[in-house]
Amino acid sequence: MKAYLSEIFSSVQGEGPYVGERHLFLRFCGCHRDCTFCDTETGRTETVLVETIPGSGSFGKIPNPMTTEKLMELVREVDAKRNNRRISLTGGDPLLQVNYLHELLPQLCGDGYNIYLETAGDLTQQLKSVIEWIDIVAMDVKLESVTHEKSTFPAHWQFLKTCRDWNVEVFVKLVLSAETHEGEMMEAAKGIKKAGGEDTLIVIQPMTKAKRTDAVPTGEQLLRWQDKVATQLPNVRVIPQTHIMMKML
Ligand code: SF4
Repeated sequence: MKAYLSEIFSSVQGEGPYVGERHLFLRFCGCHRDCTFCDTETGRTETVLVETIPGSGSFGKIPNPMTTEKLMELVREVDAKRNNRRISLTGGDPLLQVNYLHELLPQLCGDGYNIYLETAGDLTQQLKSVIEWIDIVAMDVKLESVTHEKSTFPAHWQFLKTCRDWNVEVFVKLVLSAETHEGEMMEAAKGIKKAGGEDTLIVIQPMTKAKRTDAVPTGEQLLRWQDKVATQLPNVRVIPQTHIMMKML
């Protein structure tokens, strides 16, 4: 089985409640979404960039697509010191290559890795087929007023409920921009509460300026929205993309 990956590197987790932890990132090509704030090249690449020294920005190139055997070899090489706490599967959306994950994840778990999945949070069938190997799910709930894509709330609720049913640790990332529609945000908060429970951890991530949008929210907006979301979901934190501040991958 082969898959298309774009990057393999070791860095600190830049988003969410695990911010600052050392992770080994496997970035998969391909995304089914088109968020206006997207900062990632999601198309298939001819080669996989493998960072030679963490944080150096120097990469070796390995041809795509890649077998699970080759990927395991690279993981063991890049993480020779075993100083990465978890493997972050990121993208794009890694769940788009779920058959590959089916073959890869038992091997990573067999090596003792803890698996952290970053996903758009709407591909429930794909999640179900690999959930037994996932330790932490970082899922998005996407707002139409922010992404400029059609709302997919029911798919998010199904996805979140599946994580809860399987007792998999999950938190929800809400990317908010200056264009956030408060009514839509509160509809999301209520939907999350219903599907995932009142104790669901919410991370409000202020949108970072991107190629297609500069609608970065103000501090006043973020604090107001945190208060509003907290009326439904008390465990709500505001955490920006810290790797960008540090100019790290
Ligand atoms: S889901 Fe993530 S990777 Fe896909 S378009 Fe949106 S921001 Fe980009």
